[in-house]
Amino acid sequence: MVHVDPAAMETAEAALLNDGIDVVRLGYSDLIGAERGRDLLTRRFARTVGDGVAFCRSVYGTSPMGDVVDIEGGLSAGLPDVVAVPDLSTLQHVPWEPGVAHVIADLYNPDGTASGESPRTVLRGVLSRFAELGMRPVIGPELEFYVLEPCATAPTGWQRYGEGTGNVYTAGLKGDPENTLISSLRSLSAYGLDVVAANHEFSSGQFEINLWHSEALDAADRAFRFKIAVQELARIRGKRATFMAKPFNDEGGSGFHLHFSTLDADGQPLFDDPGGEDGLSAVARHGVAGVLAHAPALAALLNPTVNSYKRFGPDTLAPWLVDWGLDNRSAMIRIPPERGRAARMEVRLGDASANPYLAVAGLLGAAYLGIRDKLEAPPKLEGYGYDPAKADRLPADLGAAIGALEADHELRELLGAPFVAAFVAYKRNELERFSRWVTDWEFREYSYHL
Ligand code: GLU
Ligand code: MG
Repeated sequence: MVHVDPAAMETAEAALLNDGIDVVRLGYSDLIGAERGRDLLTRRFARTVGDGVAFCRSVYGTSPMGDVVDIEGGLSAGLPDVVAVPDLSTLQHVPWEPGVAHVIADLYNPDGTASGESPRTVLRGVLSRFAELGMRPVIGPELEFYVLEPCATAPTGWQRYGEGTGNVYTAGLKGDPENTLISSLRSLSAYGLDVVAANHEFSSGQFEINLWHSEALDAADRAFRFKIAVQELARIRGKRATFMAKPFNDEGGSGFHLHFSTLDADGQPLFDDPGGEDGLSAVARHGVAGVLAHAPALAALLNPTVNSYKRFGPDTLAPWLVDWGLDNRSAMIRIPPERGRAARMEVRLGDASANPYLAVAGLLGAAYLGIRDKLEAPPKLEGYGYDPAKADRLPADLGAAIGALEADHELRELLGAPFVAAFVAYKRNELERFSRWVTDWEFREYSYHL
């Protein structure tokens, strides 16, 4: 039986009603970071969440095409329940939906045990391992995305919004004729996401909004909400915001760079050491080594789609090799020049399609293994980073990354075997469907001469 604190729910209900909130949206992440949830009437909130809110467990295993993938304990087990319990510390008014507040839920099995497939649960598990070391990881997420507008003549029905050349780091109407960025920045800030800056990214129609760093669970919650909110705000304008890794052949991909450092139990930074090599502590170096050592498996979580692997490559600003360097944007891990409290690693591996909870859990899991086992990093990259003679290549496709995740017993144990089994089953289904689909590339390449 799931325990829900009735007094806390009743207090929250009264406060919400007092604030003019008549609907609470209860939401949580599925395996791919899409939001699942329900809108609850506030005046029935405490009653409705009394034993948790039941959902069919197949929510974790529903593909983007709406198929129910048979992850363990799903279809073949008779589609049992999972139960969502609001985490009241995450309650937040939704500025663009007057009268609506949003709350993030934790997911449980009906017997009260934590639901192993829930991405937020997976992250909580990894954080508990850091807590055993007396460490509190800090994450700063950077997300890139494209904004699209409907186009009747485009084969996909969508074209890039605000098409123009060379608009990287421009602000204003040039690359954003309807000022969507400023209005999104304001709405996202009012939504409590602690966004700090927004700019036009490298490619036409591509934007980036930075979130301030905070402790890992809060940062993952904000990144999850951010993606859902950016998509929702675009819908209000009749547009589509997409975080897919590489939507276009003629433009670059969208990254999900994660800035990572850790504090000790007293809040002191652990990555800085003025006497250490490059001003970095041993903990920082071991953390880097862990991320490098587990990179192929990590790719399955940070680069989780068939499309993700088209973002990698030489001269892309996305990584291609498993390497690290000091202030070097061609490396998979960049150590930004700041030290002191700002000493950190920027992991540039992830693309924007990654589920924020799983991206953070995977990254922290790999770093934890490096720190725990005192792994030493290979020599750092100097200069040009896209030379395959200097370091191993990242997995070439999703199948290779999924295989690496399955084979990485340490990371699998850390993330939880039931979660990894569900994730692998889900992704194998995606790979199989893709392998049978005839693409436009094949028709172009073969239909005329062959
Ligand atoms: N768009 C690049 C990527 O996919 C990153 C560009 C940048 O350095 O901000 O990772
Ligand atoms: Mg960027």
